Amino acid sequence: MKSAVIGFPRVGKLRELKFASEKYFRGQITEESLDVVAKELRKEHWQLQQKAGIDFISSNDFSFYDGMLDTTVLLNAIPKEYQKLGLNEQQTYFAMARGYQGEQGDVKAFAMKKWFNTNYHYMVPEINDDTKITLCGNKPFHEYKEAKEYGIETKPVIIGAFTFLKLAKYNGKNTAANYAEQLVKAYGDILNKLNELGTKWVQFDEPALVTDLTAEEIQFFVALYKRILGNKNNVKVLLQTYFGDVRDCYKDIMDLEFDGIGLDFLEGKRNLELLRLNNFPEDKILFAGVINGKNIWKCDYKRILDMLSEIKKHAKNVVISTSCSLLHNPYTLENETKMEENVKKHFAFAKEKLSEIHELSYITESDDYEALTEYKRNREVFEAVRLYESKEIQAEVAALSEKDFIRKIDRKEREKIQKKEFGFPLFPTTTIGSFPQTQEVKKNRSNYRTGEIDEKTYEKQVFKLIEACIRQQEELGLDVLVHGEYERNDMVEFFGENLEGYVFTEKAWVQSYGTRCVKPPIIFGDVKRIRPITVKYSKYAQSLTNKPVKGMLTGPVTILNWSFPREDVSLQEMAYQIGIAIREEVCDLEKLGIKIIQIDEAALKEKLPIRRNEWYSEYLDWAIPAFRLCHSRVKPETQIHTHMCYSEFEEIVKDIDNMDADVISFEASRSKLTIIDALKANNFETEVGPGVYDIHSPRIPTVEEIVQVLQKMLEKIDKNKLWVNPDCGLKTRGIPETIASLKNLVEAAKIVRESL
Ligand code: GLN
Ligand code: ZN
Repeated sequence: MKSAVIGFPRVGKLRELKFASEKYFRGQITEESLDVVAKELRKEHWQLQQKAGIDFISSNDFSFYDGMLDTTVLLNAIPKEYQKLGLNEQQTYFAMARGYQGEQGDVKAFAMKKWFNTNYHYMVPEINDDTKITLCGNKPFHEYKEAKEYGIETKPVIIGAFTFLKLAKYNGKNTAANYAEQLVKAYGDILNKLNELGTKWVQFDEPALVTDLTAEEIQFFVALYKRILGNKNNVKVLLQTYFGDVRDCYKDIMDLEFDGIGLDFLEGKRNLELLRLNNFPEDKILFAGVINGKNIWKCDYKRILDMLSEIKKHAKNVVISTSCSLLHNPYTLENETKMEENVKKHFAFAKEKLSEIHELSYITESDDYEALTEYKRNREVFEAVRLYESKEIQAEVAALSEKDFIRKIDRKEREKIQKKEFGFPLFPTTTIGSFPQTQEVKKNRSNYRTGEIDEKTYEKQVFKLIEACIRQQEELGLDVLVHGEYERNDMVEFFGENLEGYVFTEKAWVQSYGTRCVKPPIIFGDVKRIRPITVKYSKYAQSLTNKPVKGMLTGPVTILNWSFPREDVSLQEMAYQIGIAIREEVCDLEKLGIKIIQIDEAALKEKLPIRRNEWYSEYLDWAIPAFRLCHSRVKPETQIHTHMCYSEFEEIVKDIDNMDADVISFEASRSKLTIIDALKANNFETEVGPGVYDIHSPRIPTVEEIVQVLQKMLEKIDKNKLWVNPDCGLKTRGIPETIASLKNLVEAAKIVRESL
């Protein structure tokens, strides 16, 4: 069986692209030097795949920042304001990616959005009425030729016309339909050009096909491709989908003149059933996505071989492929020098997955594959007993009952009790948790990690920072204080380190956006709290002041969503296990006199299914209870806060209310306060602190500005329910701007309070 890879990680084994790009941004290296690094990486990645025996290797999966942005440039959709800067090609590209402020002008960066259900973010193309789409860039052709020079025939990967139009933002009167003609021409030209180059295959990525589509949208897709494919000539076209199934359009896409169709058989739950019902056309090749591009576990050969043999019953020509681009995987396990062997043997990162694909491609050819060493070696891993199994925690989850998810006193009653308990003024002021992570703060942590200072010295320093933070907040006159989160700079790893069942990596970085990478920990076994996590810091902070200090925790859904999950138990099981661990922490905090506890669910929405009819059955039906599990046991006078980022909660406002927190804060300033309308429309009951200023920018908001925002909020939110806070944690900010901003925030709350 032949083998294919949808795309390969591009930042490099040790994030070489990130570091080179950042040097370039700082003016420390030239554009040419950056290009050299990029060229080396591409070469390395192609040769790696070639050596691993992959038959269909991608090119143009490389990007300096993001593939959608590359497509924007390729299609000449660069808005006028960026063109007008008069910068060169590369500089214009980065101006769209990161904004530009300098001699040539002042433009903001493109908006960024989550790429389907991943933690990768793409740059949203901006289409204006004067946008004229034509084939203009050269990147896919250039990279194809570059690989060819190394003797490697690649399939250029290009975001498909439909997905591009569907994800773009339209600023004027035009909609996607207005661009059909131009897109057909541009993609036709791409095919012509590839044909001239002698390219054998091209891959059009159309993940938008796995979303809920209307009949019109499907018609639009069909009409687009009928015409685009008219220009195929000798180039074979692979229609690539991933992250789900193509239930709305299976027959429609099969009827088109594609030469290959890529389907995801892991996240695309219904794809196998669609195949069974309809069979797969004999004149096409099925690129069967069976190697998990998103997770880090070794592939279970037995399971995959069964799946492949089922697939082969209905499709004559099958190529084994990844479920999605390997972009969502770290580069290689080889960098993990500290990981125990009997843990490591369970994993395969991008590089190791190449070997798996290759092994599977010949195992499938064998009549007696069970006798092959490769197969036997794989069986051994899956038959071995995994570490960190806890019967105790499994039983605890199994025994959960309704009362574990419900607070004894309902929220309306609690509100009265808490108003009395705390006696806050109208519009209480607070922050989201973290204070600036200065050099001093970071140095303290890194010195401790490298063993330069001992635990005692480290803690003493953290306590010193906490004390200064408390004093600062008292001086500012905030109502609810925080300890500053100096002991962490990460919302998950810090908790994971105190939980059994977690495994950490040294270099398993995955691109989140542009040059930013994240290093998610791995849930390896049953999760159990080993020791109190935050208690000593909160206790100390509270001992310094008479004002309430919030205990600061990360919620179970966010911990789960920002980790690599297990594949042998359900997401619900993991969320509940983590929920129980957080519940223990919540109860300890309460016992020690912490009266307000914030359980952050920054990433609550991250794994919301792509298909709307699965939102509840597959996700919210356990995600919301997992949060409730954490706080169901606290006293009615203990106030539970939560915090969420990344907006766009309009559609799940009711579910958020259902988390049964007492107070919620969230990002609102960048989304132009649209969320406020959704709160009103849904009779939102939880007290709310929609962020009054954007902490992602060093800009200091003025008092008047905040007053105005608050007045606008008061048109829609009951004055007894409104809190005043920034829109997220302050850890990325500097101290001077933080103090100035908070001073204005407290002042603005006072002015609005007195005006009533
Ligand atoms: N409490 C966290 C902080 O303030 C929340 C971070 C987040 O929402 N991303 O840093
Ligand atoms: Zn946040």
